[in-house]
Amino acid sequence: MPPKKTSEKSRNFILNVIDEDLSTGKHSSVITRFPPEPNGYLHIGHAKSICLNFGTAKNYNGYCNLRFDDTNPSKEDIEFVNSIKKDVNWLGFSWNNEVKFSSSYFDIFYQSAVELIKKNLAYVCFLSPEEIRKYRGTLKKPGKNSPFRDSTINDNIVLFDKMKAGEFKEGECVLRAKIDMASSFMCMRDPTLYRIRFETHHQTKDDWCIYPMYDFAHCLGDAIEGVTHSICTLEFQDNRRIYNWTLENLDAFNKPDRPHQYEFSRLNLEYATTSKRKLKLLVDNDYVSGWNDPRMPTISGLKRRGYTPASIRDFSERIGVSKVNSLTDISILESSIRDDLNLTAPRAMAVINPIKLVIENYPEGKIESLSAPLHPQNEEMGARKIFFSREIYIDKDDFTEVVPNNKYKRLSIDKEVRLRNSYVIKASRFNKDENGNISTIYCTYDPDTLGKNPIDGRKVKGVIHYVESTKAISAKFKIYDRLFLDSNPSQFDDMSLALNPNSLIIKNGYVEYSLKNVEIGKAYQFEREGYFCRDTESEGLVFNKTVGLRDTWSQ
Ligand code: ATP
Ligand code: MG
Repeated sequence: MPPKKTSEKSRNFILNVIDEDLSTGKHSSVITRFPPEPNGYLHIGHAKSICLNFGTAKNYNGYCNLRFDDTNPSKEDIEFVNSIKKDVNWLGFSWNNEVKFSSSYFDIFYQSAVELIKKNLAYVCFLSPEEIRKYRGTLKKPGKNSPFRDSTINDNIVLFDKMKAGEFKEGECVLRAKIDMASSFMCMRDPTLYRIRFETHHQTKDDWCIYPMYDFAHCLGDAIEGVTHSICTLEFQDNRRIYNWTLENLDAFNKPDRPHQYEFSRLNLEYATTSKRKLKLLVDNDYVSGWNDPRMPTISGLKRRGYTPASIRDFSERIGVSKVNSLTDISILESSIRDDLNLTAPRAMAVINPIKLVIENYPEGKIESLSAPLHPQNEEMGARKIFFSREIYIDKDDFTEVVPNNKYKRLSIDKEVRLRNSYVIKASRFNKDENGNISTIYCTYDPDTLGKNPIDGRKVKGVIHYVESTKAISAKFKIYDRLFLDSNPSQFDDMSLALNPNSLIIKNGYVEYSLKNVEIGKAYQFEREGYFCRDTESEGLVFNKTVGLRDTWSQ
């Protein structure tokens, strides 16, 4: 299929570049890649990059590779490889053919390094890391050439061979590119291409003890795979020079249709961190229950919290792609999930802070079965059965002893409210326990008000939800708040200082009978409470609150 243009809705500067490249004939198709390092779980920032890379390729009838950037064996693990694959699939994307690994190109990287040495463009350097830093100079001061910079090509070939053969200790020497120690771009002052690591790699085991640096491996991986547009985040802007230098100096890759790198700004989300290192600290210090804790901005955390793939893709589209670094308002993410679930989530009733209510004029022992729509705007979703009897639970917050003002629409003494999907009731009295808290509310009901207004024209404005007591199912509700109190927690070295002590509150309440065997992960709107889904990791009936019905943060 020929490449096609994308809709105006998702236009961004990268698409302009692609359109130009296709129209000038520089490329005839679009090939992108998503290159995670398997050293942690994916987060919402990665989701932005995934939507951009996979989404762009798909829009142009091209393809996107999933390539693990596995060049640093000390931090990587197969657990992360598997979780990343799962998360990309869950977001609704599939990669081209098999998953790729940078490590499967180690031979080509090695040959390329040898080619640079032979062209007198790389050398083995025995300066210590400290000395390399000193020799590099500063932004204001040019660097100084390493004393090893002028070793002969032959010597370098022998030394690099010895590095590969494990004849030097870790840290004893590195292979560096010979570029320009006076470059105004610090990254071009003879960057390191290879270092020694005696570690078992999750893919190549003990085959190698030299590992390429990201800047060297990345451009080569792109070129080997025929990537056309290599999209990465802004912090690699300067490194684009190494990317180009490397490809331009290698015969096999210096071609007019070689890949080019384009940078966009990372997603930084308010009240969250998108640093994998910091997310790992949260897990390692038990500040959260794991990478998939529903308060984490990881894809697995968002999934467990009840976010849908469609809502995350919608969020990525809404925030757009630019070159300006900023902090994205978390309410944008929340409105994406709210908009999705408002359309798709069936309605149900749950009482999170229960208090007993007795309807004194309702016959004892009688249980009525009523029908309630699963979605108020979508009849096709059908109905569910709910129950009604003399004793029900309502939420404590829906009754008040003292009416605060005449706008108050919920229950109080001598006031009428409608119970959602059933009758109008009127409160007459209440009991208090020994601590002075209201324990039971007594009401009467109007039997002529099922599904209709009172016949004498009385106006009943308020509606509250309830569950019938004998059929109610006990449930736990996990109510989440921001994990951090500060909108930009990444600014703290010790992020524990910014943690919100009330980020998780657990409540014991009831849900209606129809949720007795509710499917794990399935989203519901608990009427008047918000969107919830049954937790994947807990025993029993435990619901995670995904998001409230309204944006209460910007009020
Ligand atoms: P590390 O510090 O471990 O390198 P990283 O966040 O860059 O962390 P990678 O696994 O290297 O993680 O990221 C894979 C891809 O996702 C990269 O192309 C990277 O640019 C992109 N990416 C990572 N974080 C974000 C973010 N916050 N917003 C957008 N894209 C991101
Ligand atoms: Mg990275």
